[in-house]
Amino acid sequence: VSRKLQAPRGTLDVQPADGRRRLRIQRIAADGLGRAGYEPFDTPVFEDTELFARGVGASTDIVQKEMFTFEDKAGRSLTLRPEATAAICRAYVEHGMHKLPQPVKLWTWGPFFRHEAPQAGRFRQFTQVDAEALGSDDPSLDAELILLLAELIERAGAGPARLRLSSLGTPETRAAYLDELRDYLRGHQGELSEDVRDRLEANPLRAFDADHAGTQAVMAGAPRLLDRLDPADAEHFAEVRALLDAAGLAYDVDSTLVRGLDYYTRTVFEFESERLGAQAALGGGGRYDRLIEELGGPPTPGVGWAAGIERILLASGAEPEESEPRVFVAVVTHPARDHAFGLAQLLRGRGIRTEIEQAGRSMKGQLKHADRMGARATVIVGEGIEVKDMDTGEQRSVRDADEAAARVEELLG
Ligand code: AMP
Repeated sequence: VSRKLQAPRGTLDVQPADGRRRLRIQRIAADGLGRAGYEPFDTPVFEDTELFARGVGASTDIVQKEMFTFEDKAGRSLTLRPEATAAICRAYVEHGMHKLPQPVKLWTWGPFFRHEAPQAGRFRQFTQVDAEALGSDDPSLDAELILLLAELIERAGAGPARLRLSSLGTPETRAAYLDELRDYLRGHQGELSEDVRDRLEANPLRAFDADHAGTQAVMAGAPRLLDRLDPADAEHFAEVRALLDAAGLAYDVDSTLVRGLDYYTRTVFEFESERLGAQAALGGGGRYDRLIEELGGPPTPGVGWAAGIERILLASGAEPEESEPRVFVAVVTHPARDHAFGLAQLLRGRGIRTEIEQAGRSMKGQLKHADRMGARATVIVGEGIEVKDMDTGEQRSVRDADEAAARVEELLG
């Protein structure tokens, strides 16, 4: 027996009910982002591997463990995109977008790929909506983007979500801070959990997340990055917060927030669902004022976020779909089929969702089918045309296709 073929591990098929919910979220995103001046943009699904090594950070989990990398026939190393920002920055440089009026605001939607261990809410191919504002370090962009993501989560029905917010300052501030934190932790080695002690050199920030009582006591007195920001970065963060306060958006300042990518500077944030378990991050992002330069472009600040559509759908539960009214065109005898086909085209042309008999059912079977699919009206085409009101059962003869369409429109209200 041949092996049953299945979708690859960590991937999913989007079936119609989910497909409709996705389209709805995509419309909400296009609408909200569009109103704030963000333009649709797309980049390829694969890029030179080097783009991600440089743009995501060679030391990150993504680059070290999670990339789907392959060689093309000419021996070039290519990688399925694990995130959107690096490619958008690449495109900004490649198309000389720094010559456009700044900031350049873009959004994108599509599949992303990470070789992670699959679990609820975590896939190897997943969908992100992503928004970026390039070419200005104005704190109102940080606030605007955060508010746009909050609005998207809310309108998608995926709330409530907790917003964690912090500032990472510059890479230099961060490096000096990490040295200070390591020194502090070394001074308290004996009180720390073994796990934290083992990771002290590689990842001292982990200590903030420990559930070990001794470690927690030590961390209560640990230095915080937010207290070490230089004056310009502290001022920038204060302005972002003031704008969010003025907009009435609640957030928790969380100086332990770390994001998975190397390139963040200043603002970082993440929205966490209060409804999801282990994989609770709905979306997040931050500012990356050095990234474009890192990729060979002119010094250009930027800020953006990405949100996971599968997670948003999980958090939004089974929202009822506003289903469009449907019409069914039944075909009495084969000779009437061409006429019925033309009539269905006419109804569709008028914007009515219309289906027609296409599976050789008997008239009885067709009416049953129309009923089952929830048709509001059925147009029965034989030698004449009749329009049936599926709610009352009333059936009316009409003279021609135009009159049939008018009656259908009347029934749909
Ligand atoms: P990140 O850039 O890692 O912060 O990802 C942004 C958002 O994408 C996350 O908050 C998740 O909602 C979503 N996401 C990231 N990785 C995955 C994954 N492997 N499966 C599903 N969603 C993901």
